[in-house]
Formats: sequence, structure tokens, C-alpha cells
Amino acid sequence: MELTITRTTHPAEKPADPRKAGFGTIFTDHMFEMDYSPEQGWHNARIIPLENLSLHPGAAVFHYGAEVFEGLKAYRTAQGKVQMFRPRDNMERMRNSAERIQLPDFDADFMLEALTKLVALDQDWVPSAPGTSLYIRPVEFCTDIDLGLHNIGHAKMMIILSPVGSYLSGGLRPVSILIEDHDVRAVRGGTGYAKCGGNYAAANRAAAKAEQKGYDQVLWLDGVHQRYIEEVGGMNVMFKLDGKIVTPALTGSVLPGITRRSCIQLLKDKGYEVEERLFAVDELIEALESGKLEEAWGCGTAAVISPIGKFCYQDKAYTIGEENGPTAQWLYDTLTGIQWGSVADPYGWVYPVPEKP
Ligand SMILES: *Cc1c(COP(=O)(O)O)cnc(C)c1O
Repeated sequence: MELTITRTTHPAEKPADPRKAGFGTIFTDHMFEMDYSPEQGWHNARIIPLENLSLHPGAAVFHYGAEVFEGLKAYRTAQGKVQMFRPRDNMERMRNSAERIQLPDFDADFMLEALTKLVALDQDWVPSAPGTSLYIRPVEFCTDIDLGLHNIGHAKMMIILSPVGSYLSGGLRPVSILIEDHDVRAVRGGTGYAKCGGNYAAANRAAAKAEQKGYDQVLWLDGVHQRYIEEVGGMNVMFKLDGKIVTPALTGSVLPGITRRSCIQLLKDKGYEVEERLFAVDELIEALESGKLEEAWGCGTAAVISPIGKFCYQDKAYTIGEENGPTAQWLYDTLTGIQWGSVADPYGWVYPVPEKP
């Protein structure tokens, strides 16, 4: 498929320091768009100046939430080059998410090419201050003008770019977590493994409750027993017990994070035993009380690694530690080192972005 490029004639001012803005509030000069219809398949692939969308108010995405998305980053190295981290994995995961929602499938290679060209075109927007990057947000949604519940016919794909600082203000520091024991995010057979907007809508109430009680994030339990730990907000979660790493298994209701997968590889290669299994909240509390729990952290593209310092379960507060744990710190340093190009990448995770077209 052909990809046309129309450059802006009105480039916007770049932020002096994106760390001062919120996460994802400033956007670059260009966007990618393409459309799907049953007759034409994917067509009209284009990079154009960033603009508002014009959609019919009857478009199904507004009513029934048929939407999937991705989140990845481009990083500026000390040598001034721009690189991405495992972008093909994001495109493959987006295909899996789309399949769950029954949005049209797409060619991951073509999307990777489009994404790379867009980032190459707007690469002057990739910031260079410590901890900053260019957040890349692909999104696919249903544009059928139809309030009836039918199979999806028409869809749109977009990619937008946003220069960002670190997701959690204050850089690497321990966060506090509220273990949610009423609402659930996902159930087996549901959409938990898909990166779709609906999962986040369902999480809003617990997130509001956590914020109101003074906690940074929600930790979700499984939807059946409300006993097994699943994940944190937009992050997967890992625990260090007696020198071993434990992380919830991908049972279908947990999002298969690319940061999670990368951490597991790094930890195993460092010689850690990593167990992917069911991990109950009572086991967590028991491990904390018996002194076995050494560290806990969340991991995801936006925040990279977030050590967990405190958590609350059924109105009881527990403290894991006031400082960043050594394993979380090592993971953070290694991952960000690979991403920003200061640590060698023996895995082939780094994906260079070519010069401006
Ligand atoms: C995106 C996301 C993650 C983290 O995935 P990464 O690929 O590591 O960024 C974890 N949980 C949820 C619910 C997510 O949406």
C-alpha cells in the first residue's frame, strides 16, 4: 500500500522541557491516518499535519467503545540518534487486541513502516532532557455510522506522537498502591489481555477511590476469587521474595506487557529465578509479615519501573520500604540504559529510526 506524506506549513513551537507538561498533553506536527472499509480494505494511508477529526455522532466507537490502542516510545541517544524499543511487539499485540474486539486486522510490517516514517519526520520533537522521550500512540476504532449492534465494517487507524517526561512525577520513587477488593478490571474470557479503552473506562471508579484515599495507583485482583494479584493500573507487577522473582501469570485477564517480558528476560539472564504463577494477596501479606518480601515494583512503558513502597488492603496499610529497592533500581537502570543507548543491547530490542525523509 502507498503511504503519502503531506508536510505541515505551520510547524508548532516545541516545548522547552516536556517534563513540565502533563503526560500526553502536547502533540507533534504530524499524524498518521488510514481507513478501512469492507470494499476497499485498508486504504488512503497518509501522514498529514495534525488535525481534528470530523466524525458522525452516530459513529459506533462513541456508543459501544470498539477501540484498541498501543503505547511505545522513541528515545534520543547521547549521540543524538533516535531509536524505538521493540516496536514490532507493539504492532503484534495490537493485532491481538483488534482480534478480541473484532476490529479489522492489519499488516504489522506496514504499520511499523508507517510508524517509523512518522517518527522520522517529527524526530526533532524527540526531547533530549534526562528521562524524556517521544510517546507514540497508535489507535484503531470503529467508524460505522450504525447504532445497531452489527459486525464491524468501517474502521480508522491513527498514530499520534507526544513528547513526554516521566509518567509519575518525581522520577523513580516508591509509589503507594490501593489493592481494590470491590471492582474488578477484567475476567477470564473478557478483554483483560487486550489493550482496549473499555478496560480503562471500567477502571475509573477504583482509580478515583485510590486517589481520594491518597494512593497513587490501583492494584487489581482477579475477577473470580478477588484473591489473586493481577496488575497495577497501566503496569504489570513483580515481587521479590527470598531472592526469587514472582510475577502474575498471563491468565487472559492480565495485559501481556512488553516491559514485563523484557524484565523477565533481563532478570533470568542475571541469574534470578522467575516464577510466573498465581500469587494471592494473602501470600503477599504473609510474605511481608514474615520478612520474606524484599521488593515490589510495577513495570510498563509509560513509567518504566515503579517501586512499590506502600500498599493498602481492606483498610489496613502496609509498608514494603521507603527507598527504591536494589533490584528495581537495577532493572530501571538497565532498561532505560538500553532504551537511551548507554547500555549495550544484546537482544536486538532497539530499533533505529532513520534520518528525516
Ligand atoms: C500497556 C499496559 C501495560 C504495560 O505494557 P507495556 O507493553 O509494558 O507498556 C500493563 N497493563 C495494562 C493494563 C496496560 O494497558
